[in-house]
Amino acid sequence: MNAAYVIVGASLAGAKAAETLREEGFGGPIVLIGEETERPYERPPLSKDYLLGKAEREAIYVHPAGWYAEHGVELRLGTTVTGVNPAAHEVMLGDGGRIGYAKLLLATGSAPRRLPVPGADADGVHYLRRVADSDRIKEAFAVASRVAVIGAGWIGLETTAAARAAGVEVTFLETAELPLLRVLGREVAEVFAGLHREHGVDLRFGLQVAEITGSGGQAGGVRLADGSHIPAEAVIVGVGIMPNSQLAETAGLEVGNGIVTDAQLRSSDPDIYAAGDVANAYHPVLGRHIRVEHWANALNQPQAAARAMLGQDIAYDLVPYFYTDQYDLGMEYAGYVEPGRYDRVVFRGDVQRREFVAFWLGGGRVLAGMNVNVWDVNDTIQAIVRSGRTVDTGRLADPGVPLEEFLAD
Ligand SMILES: Cc1cc2nc3c(=O)[nH]c(=O)nc-3n(C[C@H](O)[C@H](O)[C@H](O)COP(=O)(O)OP(=O)(O)OC[C@H]3O[C@@H](n4cnc5c(N)ncnc54)[C@H](O)[C@@H]3O)c2cc1C
Repeated sequence: MNAAYVIVGASLAGAKAAETLREEGFGGPIVLIGEETERPYERPPLSKDYLLGKAEREAIYVHPAGWYAEHGVELRLGTTVTGVNPAAHEVMLGDGGRIGYAKLLLATGSAPRRLPVPGADADGVHYLRRVADSDRIKEAFAVASRVAVIGAGWIGLETTAAARAAGVEVTFLETAELPLLRVLGREVAEVFAGLHREHGVDLRFGLQVAEITGSGGQAGGVRLADGSHIPAEAVIVGVGIMPNSQLAETAGLEVGNGIVTDAQLRSSDPDIYAAGDVANAYHPVLGRHIRVEHWANALNQPQAAARAMLGQDIAYDLVPYFYTDQYDLGMEYAGYVEPGRYDRVVFRGDVQRREFVAFWLGGGRVLAGMNVNVWDVNDTIQAIVRSGRTVDTGRLADPGVPLEEFLAD
């Protein structure tokens, strides 16, 4: 096959890129290759409604089953790309096959970081990335009376909320002093700690996991570095993810915290692009490279990459955005703050009742904002972040002052 547009990684980013290529009128061959056997699906429900049993399997897919054939997209599932030869414009497949490309998009995403302790490969130790992982965790919650969750990031917190909804006792283990401390800072991290404490979670911070205990290859608990032992019938590990950038690296592309691209999502090879979790893209508004591990980025960035692959003059400059749902707390976050690099947090609304907006400020400007159980404000928050204007913090904290006022001339 010749001169195809080839996409490696058949998940949200890959599927959206294929869709955009067709929407933009590209009539040539498109080959979408994924090592998973499922057609492209979205991962956020795997730790929320799908895990909770509130969403059907069919609801997670990016497109209906027939969409790929109807749009002339050759979907090759269960197929691993083992190498890229930029000089020959070819990708190599695990089955020995090769596919030539005119343009290549790497949308290979990321994979869970493994816990480097003895016993971490026992049965009953779960990582959550794929739909089969979510199925296994749901089964574990149905039979377990107590689980341990290691790592207080978004996956750990959402899985904890799902376990509590299933009536399972949770001991929550984290090295830092608070959940999400690096991402949110102390002020807002306290809100999430309080939320889980109120739901009966045994939160333990400032500790080191030494070993997963058990017998006969089955996990039975977690031993901490201080010698104490937490019994658990299942252990969920959520200690971060690593970008799947090995293909790019062995192909000789520039790699550093993911595949390094310009604002058009073009890698150091002019015919190879990257998008989604794996892309460390130059962001024109932030004035730096950034790799975003969130759904909205995997939804929107490949659309820009597809247009750039078709020769359109486009730069991806959307403000980073993510969301979470835990118990009765729903929130959206927009912007970007490097860990610890803000001057103060301004709250607007009722933090105790968890109905508020938090703004992270630096140099008098809003770097990021998070609306918690307050809706229809995130577009305005994004516009405020983009504007880079200095704000009056007293007025920002006052819910009586419309947010639009911070955008008015
Ligand atoms: C459980 C869970 C919950 C989440 N919840 C939220 C949320 O609430 N809010 C939010 O903003 N974000 C959330 N995210 C993050 C969001 O889902 C990711 O940012 C998004 O999935 C990234 O999409 P992607 O297409 O870039 O990569 P991925 O989804 O990682 O997909 C990459 C695909 O490429 C395949 N692949 C990799 N290498 C190869 C190869 N060599 N050959 C063939 N195929 C290959 C992989 O198998 C995979 O299918 C969540 C993630 C998870 C796992």
